[in-house]
Amino acid sequence: MSKIILIGANHAGTAAANTILDNYPENELVIFDSNNNISYLGCGTALYVGRQIDDPNALFYSSKDILSAKKAKVHMESPVNRIDFENRKVYAVKKGGKEIVETYDKLILATGSLPIVPKIKGLDLPNVECVKLFQDGQKIDKLLNEPDIKNVAVIGAGYIGVEIAEAVRRRGKEALLFEALDTCLANYYDDWFSKDMDKVLADKGVRLHYSEMVQEIKGDARVKGIKTDRGEYPVDMVIMAIGFKPNASLAGKDLEVFSNGAYKVNRKQETSRPGVYAIGDCATVYSNALESPAYIALATNAVRSGVIAGHNACGTAIESSGVQGSNGICIYDYKMVSTGLNLKAAEKAGFTPLCTQFEDTQKPGFIKEDNHKVKIRIVYDKNTRRILGAQMASYNDISMGIHLFSLAIEEKVTIDKLKLLDIFFLPHFNQPYNYITMAALTAK
Ligand SMILES: Cc1cc2nc3c(=O)[nH]c(=O)nc-3n(C[C@H](O)[C@H](O)[C@H](O)COP(=O)(O)OP(=O)(O)OC[C@H]3O[C@@H](n4cnc5c(N)ncnc54)[C@H](O)[C@@H]3O)c2cc1C
Repeated sequence: MSKIILIGANHAGTAAANTILDNYPENELVIFDSNNNISYLGCGTALYVGRQIDDPNALFYSSKDILSAKKAKVHMESPVNRIDFENRKVYAVKKGGKEIVETYDKLILATGSLPIVPKIKGLDLPNVECVKLFQDGQKIDKLLNEPDIKNVAVIGAGYIGVEIAEAVRRRGKEALLFEALDTCLANYYDDWFSKDMDKVLADKGVRLHYSEMVQEIKGDARVKGIKTDRGEYPVDMVIMAIGFKPNASLAGKDLEVFSNGAYKVNRKQETSRPGVYAIGDCATVYSNALESPAYIALATNAVRSGVIAGHNACGTAIESSGVQGSNGICIYDYKMVSTGLNLKAAEKAGFTPLCTQFEDTQKPGFIKEDNHKVKIRIVYDKNTRRILGAQMASYNDISMGIHLFSLAIEEKVTIDKLKLLDIFFLPHFNQPYNYITMAALTAK
């Protein structure tokens, strides 16, 4: 029997806890979390703020009660502020100030990530919000109810910025989306896709301020404006959505870390100290496309890494098969999914990438209903012909197709192997010449 301490109980922590409690009940599990809730699905923030769902409480799938019922000892609102690795002790402070000290045999770090906030003037003004916690969503939701809040600046046109800009528009407010690059979602999609999303946003009234660097938030008692390198704009509220950094300061000096400070882990989620695991957004992942460690903060990676650490901490050796960073987004019904590397990312990583692409209606022309265009791009390496990534977009739900490419990247499938892959045809779903086959067949 081991005593396991888990620090952080959101997606990664909950997955590790369930793995341990469901499969190894003989172990003792002690959980600390600084927040007052567990398992908040941040992906639901924009849906809730944009009133696409009614009940934000449905965005939780676990709780202190659920984990306690499985015999975990759960300390909520109890941040861990020190770990003594030599003596295997964890120090936390309960709400009210009481210190808790617990010893461990195995330790799992699941402290997640923190929003990146630029060093600009005006950040401390009221009505400047981040999008991470349930509490952040609640604050944004409440502010958008105020009639005085008319113009909302969203800073950063990655996933979260784009989603929250849509939510702001759905609440009838003006949304100004600021981005240093010249398009949205640039980390995941090439221009051929992201420019379509820009059009979707612009058509719905989101004001796109691209290639524009925010320099200052203006105001006194509250936000009054945004100053960029290209002008000044009156706004009443600012939502920061620049990205996330690993929350790894707790043990960053005691463990090996990646270039951005994330805990470096092996395929068993073990850090540089035996018996100490790190999972989710505070840790690295292994990228199969890059064939090297990387940092990809996603709930999906967090859950898988939690399962892996849970088993390994309890003595069952299992390894991660690596990740592709598969992701999706749906804005005003326009759906984009991608996996692996886009063309720009592949070039940056030192590959000589080529791409092949195809665009057509998803189903044959005689299907008149629910038959939108679908576009696909497959990125592969010129030398090895290995598939490095894929992007797809449509108003139809084409999302399941991306999983094929995820597995292809993991298994190092070449573009040539895909050309004659057995892909079924039925008019209700696709064309006799399937768009995946067509893209592969036309590869140089
Ligand atoms: C708005 C938004 C939308 C998103 N949409 C998606 C999506 O659609 N799909 C997807 O896959 N991912 C999405 N993500 C990313 C996803 O939410 C994260 O990757 C995921 O939350 C990571 O889980 P985690 O448990 O590793 O970390 P976190 O969720 O950051 O949780 C870390 C936990 O550790 C606790 N903690 C931190 N420090 C301490 C300490 N010292 N002591 C005790 N407890 C501590 C925190 O309170 C927290 O509960 C989204 C994120 C956001 C913010």
